[in-house]
Amino acid sequence: MPPTLLFLPGDGIGPEIMAQLRRIIEWLGQHRGLTFDMVEDLIGGASIDVHGVPISDGTLAKAQAADAVMLGAVGGPKWDKVAYDNRPEAGLLKIRKELQLFANLRPAMVLDALVDASSLKPELVRGLDIMIVRELTGGVYFGEPRGIEDLGNGQRRGVNTQVYTTAEIQRVARIAFEFARVRGNRVCSVEKANVMESGKLWREDVTALHAVEYADVALSHMYADNCAMQLCRNPKQFDVIVTDNLFGDILSDEASMLTGSLGMLPSASLGPEKPTGKRAALYEPIHGSAPDIAGRGIANPIAAILSFAMALRYTFDQPDEAARIERAIEAVLNQGIRTADIMAEGCRQVSTSGMGDAVLAAL
Ligand code: NAD
Repeated sequence: MPPTLLFLPGDGIGPEIMAQLRRIIEWLGQHRGLTFDMVEDLIGGASIDVHGVPISDGTLAKAQAADAVMLGAVGGPKWDKVAYDNRPEAGLLKIRKELQLFANLRPAMVLDALVDASSLKPELVRGLDIMIVRELTGGVYFGEPRGIEDLGNGQRRGVNTQVYTTAEIQRVARIAFEFARVRGNRVCSVEKANVMESGKLWREDVTALHAVEYADVALSHMYADNCAMQLCRNPKQFDVIVTDNLFGDILSDEASMLTGSLGMLPSASLGPEKPTGKRAALYEPIHGSAPDIAGRGIANPIAAILSFAMALRYTFDQPDEAARIERAIEAVLNQGIRTADIMAEGCRQVSTSGMGDAVLAAL
């Protein structure tokens, strides 16, 4: 039986970039004998329009059953007035929570062809290859109590709670150590142990796990504010960074900008092992639905295609096919073919489908 893939294109540029990914997947079926049982469904605003909710129970059930979920992006101004709990982004939070996708992996790599797209000097980013592992289902984005209360005197009070348990910290740290072992063998754990109890616990629990199970991996600790600074000052000092949900959100966006374009960067979100021995997994570009360019055929589909390469590597045990896709993309960029977001002097600008054509030709 072919592995199952749930396709959730979502909103804005989501459907445009996912259409190009579909062509790549069809190519793999035709030329490499690698086929998938693919099902497509709705998430985000597209689901609100049809079902009244940003993700339906039926879609969640399909996500649970699939070997991997490929997501485009959600959100857009059309749904600005939807109730906060029912907004498009709530669909994304719900699927992460339901699949218990506790580890978000974001590689930040600089390809030689795009070294000038970074806002940092080429010598600082040439050859950059770091992986940020962000805790995704805990911390301040989910902690209770939370809410906005009316204090009755014209004042209101907003509350969120940063909370982590040892189990939550150690399961995400374990993923970081495992990935470090097949990369540069170094993990930097990031928190604010100097001012937050949850950070102090984070540091103690990572240290304890390291001593017992991962002493062969080099472990360092850094405060989140220093890490933000070091990512700009000398990003190549890092191999794997592991951090909580809030700091990871911010630091991974910062790291992504070291590479120059949001349209280039993939991500993977992994959950617990299922009875099949595989982890629950959702793959998506790190960018959003880009309403400012949606419908114009100019979005860069590379982040979506590279997200599928991650799926080939981490869910489908096809590292050679993943590398084949990555090499094709590198070849296209080396030929000077660019979408608008990464356009540079002397290069040839192509549309979203033009980039799909170029990657297929390189394959
Ligand atoms: P965004 O990532 O959608 O866009 C930021 C900028 O980058 C825009 O100028 C956009 O045109 C550009 N951009 C993004 N992806 C691109 C691509 N593939 N090719 C070319 N240019 C690209 O972030 P935003 O503008 O802050 O958010 C827009 C909407 O997306 C919001 O509703 C937000 O909530 C949502 N969002 C969703 C996700 C997700 O689905 N995972 C992530 C972030 C934001």
